[in-house]
Amino acid sequence: MIGFDLTPEQHALQAKARRFAKEVIAPVAAQHDREGTFPLDVMQKAHQEGFFTPLVPKKYGGQGLGVLDTCILYEELAAGCMGIYLSIFVNALALYPIMKFGTEEQKERFLKPFCEKFSLASYCLSEHTVGSDPASMKTTAVLEGDHYIVNGTKMWITNGGYADFYLLFANTDLQKRHKGIICLVVPSTLAGIGHGEPIDKMGQRASDTAAVTFRNVRVPRENLLAGEGEGFKKAMAALDITRPMIAVGAVGVARTAMELSLTYAKRRVQFGVPIASHQAVQFMLADMAKDLDAARLLTWKAAWLADQGIRNSREAAIAKAFAADTAMRVTTDAVQVYGGMGYTRWHPVEKLMRDAKVIQIYEGTAQIMRMVIARQMLQEAEIKLNT
Ligand SMILES: Cc1cc2nc3c(=O)[nH]c(=O)nc-3n(C[C@H](O)[C@H](O)[C@H](O)COP(=O)(O)OP(=O)(O)OC[C@H]3O[C@@H](n4cnc5c(N)ncnc54)[C@H](O)[C@@H]3O)c2cc1C
Repeated sequence: MIGFDLTPEQHALQAKARRFAKEVIAPVAAQHDREGTFPLDVMQKAHQEGFFTPLVPKKYGGQGLGVLDTCILYEELAAGCMGIYLSIFVNALALYPIMKFGTEEQKERFLKPFCEKFSLASYCLSEHTVGSDPASMKTTAVLEGDHYIVNGTKMWITNGGYADFYLLFANTDLQKRHKGIICLVVPSTLAGIGHGEPIDKMGQRASDTAAVTFRNVRVPRENLLAGEGEGFKKAMAALDITRPMIAVGAVGVARTAMELSLTYAKRRVQFGVPIASHQAVQFMLADMAKDLDAARLLTWKAAWLADQGIRNSREAAIAKAFAADTAMRVTTDAVQVYGGMGYTRWHPVEKLMRDAKVIQIYEGTAQIMRMVIARQMLQEAEIKLNT
């Protein structure tokens, strides 16, 4: 059976997150966007509510939710402000590999304190010269006795200036490319770690994005997750779980743009009638609604598959690509519905359009998502041909 009803627990989660977005996120979103400042107090409250740790099992102090539950919750936060949501989401992204691939001892050591006390985490994969092709990363980790000596600079790191620990990908042997990549948990207090100034971005300006440098950082070997040679596979596996959460962020942004457009179109009068009476405006609103519904359903499917333990790389990529493109289209049309007013900072839709753009870039670009989808299609076609 396929059903789309939310359980009472999911309704409660949704209501709690919607209240948080309305009362805590939305009132400060415009100011942090304008000033490009990091909302530390909002982050502290979000941590208290358990929004950083939805997937972490209860026995380590997390919420013990599924991926679909998390998506339902996260759509609400992103509807309040995508930049603030990104800063919340990245914690879940960084914690997931520990949760999934860490030993019992590592889970006790890293997850429990993170849940107990306000903390922030970052996921460090990208570099200046390495984005879509992480296998060619230049950051190195050389084993010396009981420590890895880490050298390199990671770029575009969300929460980079505030993180208590970095989930870091580095290469033990550059010749081996992806097979040499390992995944380390690196406390930010270790000597040799520094970060740059917050990067001045077009959108999602409430999120902190910085370069993080590692100079001869001695990381204890016991902070290695999942063994040597496993880091790349683990990074990719984490993305299958977290891409639906970025997709649902795009759904949240698009939903806010649609709701604002609807209200404005009913109020704004041209040619003696509200612009919502003009069919061309109605068509823009209708396109927003149909794409938004499709994006949410694709996201829920990808999340549901993840909860069933079924491989979802293709569905996660489809959801992420479609939802990001939807957010871009819907927010651009929202500016159109507002006319000249939409192009000013007097109204929130221009922020939504700026916030939407980067969803097509991070967590796998629009083009890389299509490569993932096409690769699996071609593999399946090959199998069919040979059987
Ligand atoms: C605000 C923000 C936050 C971020 N947060 C993080 C973070 O927390 N942690 C982290 O590790 N990274 C983070 N990133 C980095 C992000 O994941 C990368 O920007 C993204 O993966 C793209 O890499 P790139 O910018 O180097 O672009 P490139 O890889 O240089 O791509 C440039 C263009 O070429 C296209 N392209 C590249 N290869 C191909 C191909 N084979 N076929 C077709 N087209 C191709 C791309 O689609 C894109 O259009 C963040 C980025 C931003 C902007």
